[in-house]
Amino acid sequence: MPELRYRSRSYKRTFKRTPGGRTVIHYKRKKPSKHVCAGCGKPLHGVPRGRPYQIRKLSKSKRRPNRPYGGYYCSECMRKVFKEEARS
Ligand SMILES: [Zn+2]
Repeated sequence: MPELRYRSRSYKRTFKRTPGGRTVIHYKRKKPSKHVCAGCGKPLHGVPRGRPYQIRKLSKSKRRPNRPYGGYYCSECMRKVFKEEARS
């Protein structure tokens, strides 16, 4: 019987074949959902999915687009915001 916390479905199960031919279950935390645009709700491009410890290993430029509102607004919404800022 696995440990109590591994009996729930909050862990992803991967079946691994050992060199001895046995199949064992490895438990991994699930990936979080995709990051979405704050304006329109579409999934953002260039923003990786992963647990914080996986994201921390990436370089800063691989974490989100390097532009104003990068990783917050999509490129279309960003353009709209810039126009609004210029007009007001
Ligand atoms: Zn958007």
